Amino acid sequence: MTESKTILEIKNLNASIDDIKILNNLNLTVNAGEIHAIMGRNGSGKSTFSKVVAGHPAYNILNGDIKFKGNSILNLEPEERSHLGIFLAFQYPIEIPGVSNEDFLRLAYNAKMKSLNKPEIDPIEFFSYITKKLEIVEMDPIFLTRNVNEGFSGGEKKRNEILQMALLDSELAILDETDSGLDIDALKIISKGINELMNKNKAIILITHYQRLLDYVKPDFIHVMQKGKIIKTGNSELAKELEIKGYEWLKDEAEI
Ligand code: ADP
Ligand code: MG
Repeated sequence: MTESKTILEIKNLNASIDDIKILNNLNLTVNAGEIHAIMGRNGSGKSTFSKVVAGHPAYNILNGDIKFKGNSILNLEPEERSHLGIFLAFQYPIEIPGVSNEDFLRLAYNAKMKSLNKPEIDPIEFFSYITKKLEIVEMDPIFLTRNVNEGFSGGEKKRNEILQMALLDSELAILDETDSGLDIDALKIISKGINELMNKNKAIILITHYQRLLDYVKPDFIHVMQKGKIIKTGNSELAKELEIKGYEWLKDEAEI
């Protein structure tokens, strides 16, 4: 068996916001080529986990470490983490009035190119590049001219997140409830896009409540988060069990 490359390694992570401790001794290792799903009820700390990995400044790291490809990223700014290859699709994508989606995407793309010492591309080149990416999520080019997420439906915002994922082509993508609020057709399109973007050099962490997404994007591991830590890890059978039994039965096991 060949040993796979570790992309993300989280050890004993403890994090708080406004002096409220949310993450408690969280451990997680994600290797290249793996898809991990993190499930858990509302308020268990899933979004906090994603924002802490992305470097959201509101959170304090009390203890532990987050390593990306072997190096600690705790001292890096969110944009530095993004340039290194960490992508986060937000549970609640923000609207940016006055900024066209196309300009926003080009600036994000060129900022990454610049940090990699690669040539930036002009608006005309960018248009043909992004047009190909639009096909991955079956998005109409009209969405490029609209302001970022402004007036987008829930499903359109989620597609726009996957468009950003396609554009930045990051090694690690964390998708926070990208499936929520999608109808079945949109879910299938988004899942197809996620599968298309995955390869053996990358890793994806899917945060979801529902087994439904996992029918289309097959995770290698499923973790259950509770009170800011991973209390159980399993395979796709675990998601099916959770669908039937809920999360209650895990409580006792966690507190042993
Ligand atoms: P999940 O994504 O699993 O639903 P979150 O990470 O959003 O959970 O939230 C975890 C817990 O942290 C919740 O109890 C939530 O109320 C709390 N929390 C998140 N942000 C803040 C904040 N700014 N101030 C106080 N509590 C917060
Ligand atoms: Mg959440």
